[in-house]
Amino acid sequence: GKGGLKNVADPNVPKTKPGELGSFKGGLKALPEAIAANLGDRLKLNWHLTRLDRTERETYIAVFSTPDGQQEVEARTVVLTTPAYITAELLQPLQPEISSVLQTFTYPTVACVVLAYPVSDVKQKLVGFGNLIPRGQGIRTLGTIWTSSLFADRAPAGWQTLSSYIGGATDSGIANLDAEQIVQEVHRDLSRILLKPEAAQPKVLAVNVWKRAIPQYNLGYFDRLQQIENGLKSLPGLYLCSNYFGGVALGDCVRRGFERAQEVSEYLQQSD
Ligand SMILES: Cc1cc2nc3c(=O)[nH]c(=O)nc-3n(C[C@H](O)[C@H](O)[C@H](O)COP(=O)(O)OP(=O)(O)OC[C@H]3O[C@@H](n4cnc5c(N)ncnc54)[C@H](O)[C@@H]3O)c2cc1C
Repeated sequence: GKGGLKNVADPNVPKTKPGELGSFKGGLKALPEAIAANLGDRLKLNWHLTRLDRTERETYIAVFSTPDGQQEVEARTVVLTTPAYITAELLQPLQPEISSVLQTFTYPTVACVVLAYPVSDVKQKLVGFGNLIPRGQGIRTLGTIWTSSLFADRAPAGWQTLSSYIGGATDSGIANLDAEQIVQEVHRDLSRILLKPEAAQPKVLAVNVWKRAIPQYNLGYFDRLQQIENGLKSLPGLYLCSNYFGGVALGDCVRRGFERAQEVSEYLQQSD
């Protein structure tokens, strides 16, 4: 609206200490579900952006493939929240320089493996958020979040839920394993760290393999951002808002969303 966007915290949200981990009672999906409920029928699901054109009227035409066939939307501003490799394709015709910079962002494969064990199989009561495992320790798993120690209602009494991450930039081989093999890699590692050696096979609650998981902030990152910022000057009204740009954590994504919304709002007001 004309008054700009208000970023006011709900007073019912509990106060947290800096660095403290948080989630929602129903898991992180509560956030996109709440946003979706708020947007109502302005939210279009399964609309796949296939092309973006710029007009002489200083607007953009976004072409979507949708369940009801092709749809075109003309708008004065566009915010691309797609990953770098998709944004690279979309911007190729409009701004090949940004496109080639975006193609250099790599997204290694990471698997998230959620396993449950009877607490009697755990060496000692787990109190804390989890453990990270430095490379060079001979352990393949990257780290484990002690989910049911950290958050309420994540396991029935007598059970421990553990969410482990495996793969990443130093272990591209993870992409060649199937879900069962990945579970066995994680179970073996957990048996060497948190579990009693005789621990039985876990209940497997989830194995999600993210083929292209998290963009890497490799050497040269700030130069690439500068090139992107420069290229965007020739595309007024076009914004990028994604985790390859200014932080990957969910909190960064939320902050960035508010910042972009503010920029869009200001742009629309001055070009009225
Ligand atoms: C395994 C894993 C564990 C993580 N753990 C944590 C954690 O513990 N804490 C934390 O803070 N962060 C964590 N993160 C990071 C955080 O989840 C991400 O950085 C964040 O969700 C990225 O949000 P995004 O909106 O930038 O991108 P995404 O959530 O990837 O959204 C991009 C969207 O674009 C859509 N899309 C792609 N192409 C098109 C197209 N052509 N047309 C229309 N839509 C398209 C995709 O479907 C997708 O929905 C984790 C990430 C991963 C992968």
